[in-house]
Amino acid sequence: MNARHKTSTEAAHRVVILGAGYAGMAAAVQLAGRVKRREGVRVTVVNAQERFTERMRLHMTATGQQLAELSVPELLEGTGARFVRGWVTAVDPDARTVRIDDERVLHYDTLVYGLGGVAGTSAVPGVEDHAYTLSSAQDAELLADRLARLSNGNGSKPTVVVAGSGLTGVESAAEIAERHPELNVVLLGRQEPGAAMSPKAKAHVRAALDRLGVRVRVGADVVKVLPDGVELAGGQSIAADAVLWTSGTQISPLAARAGLTVDERGRIVTDAALRSVSHPEVYAIGDAAAIRQGYGVMHGTCQGGMPTGVHAALSIDRVLKGRRPKPFRFGYYHTPVSLGRGDAVVQFTRPDDSPRRFCLTGRTAVRYKETVTASPWPTYGRMKKMPASGAFWPRGGRFTRVRRAK
Ligand SMILES: Cc1cc2nc3c(=O)[nH]c(=O)nc-3n(C[C@H](O)[C@H](O)[C@H](O)COP(=O)(O)OP(=O)(O)OC[C@H]3O[C@@H](n4cnc5c(N)ncnc54)[C@H](O)[C@@H]3O)c2cc1C
Repeated sequence: MNARHKTSTEAAHRVVILGAGYAGMAAAVQLAGRVKRREGVRVTVVNAQERFTERMRLHMTATGQQLAELSVPELLEGTGARFVRGWVTAVDPDARTVRIDDERVLHYDTLVYGLGGVAGTSAVPGVEDHAYTLSSAQDAELLADRLARLSNGNGSKPTVVVAGSGLTGVESAAEIAERHPELNVVLLGRQEPGAAMSPKAKAHVRAALDRLGVRVRVGADVVKVLPDGVELAGGQSIAADAVLWTSGTQISPLAARAGLTVDERGRIVTDAALRSVSHPEVYAIGDAAAIRQGYGVMHGTCQGGMPTGVHAALSIDRVLKGRRPKPFRFGYYHTPVSLGRGDAVVQFTRPDDSPRRFCLTGRTAVRYKETVTASPWPTYGRMKKMPASGAFWPRGGRFTRVRRAK
């Protein structure tokens, strides 16, 4: 793997990065910046679309709000990384190839897998046929169309059910209720909204949902989605003109099909340096990776995903220079949650993601949340100019102290 001594006549070391989401972009910009002036390393980024998907804002897209046009190939310009637009359909770790749109084949020496995850639609019957999701910008736009049509309809107040009372469900229910006061919004879930937050933050979430007129139903287990509503465990049905499914996360079966070791949710199991435990030439980052820290396996967030991308890039760079990669260490520090455009709550956390007592609410929290949500793109821009600027994140103290990667 040592690319130091490669001359221009030798084949370059090919690094292929799959997915230009929050984690993949961090890996791409960071790695391209570090190997830019070195011969013998070629970085290629593959993504389904040229436009960067601001996944953290998809509940805004779903309510018809226009987002900035952020172009992945434009951001990569000048970094030396090549952009390939296409849908990855297969990875073959034996041949070290990636198949795109079933036709094109890319060869790699090192692969970075950052294809993220989508809403968990396969566990409950009817979700795939009848529910909307926030899995992609296109899915969110479909919901936006539906909500606009419901809002313009005549007659009784249409009902939108948001299934799943996790943070995506909370943000979506609040956003829909604020943007479409002419709709009934029902938030259904097993747990109280903001269940993992401190009592103060949780109370603020509940008060905001009440103020926006969201009807919250806790202890509700949706067992089926129907064309015109949902069925709950126990047999009760709730009529709905649209159902948004936010419950659970599903990982693409590509990694499992490729024979990479995955966990029970299909995420690639990594070692401390973020390499696949079964195929060390494959690095896994972001939501698609099962990364163990002292507090357990990391859960999918942008705050953790971007550091995984940066770390994979640093590890690849070290290995290419003949050095050992360092272990990845990360501790959570906050959970910012929007409650429409005019309110938010920011729960500060310990490195293991348990809530601290301190939280922000109201306008201060709105400003904080917006700063955080808007920050990835300018961060990539800064990393492009100064790769070292993106290499710092909270390490999580005693929670993430691990032995060195081998
Ligand atoms: C509404 C909402 C709000 C959120 N709010 C927050 C928040 O406030 N804070 C936070 O930390 N996290 C938040 N999250 C979670 C966060 O968005 C994810 O954890 C993050 O996007 C994961 O980054 P990633 O790079 O792993 O995957 P993604 O950002 O999903 O990127 C994956 C990329 O791979 C592409 N891709 C996927 N499959 C293929 C394929 N087969 N071929 C080609 N390309 C493919 C996708 O198009 C995408 O560009 C939120 C999520 C949602 C839905």
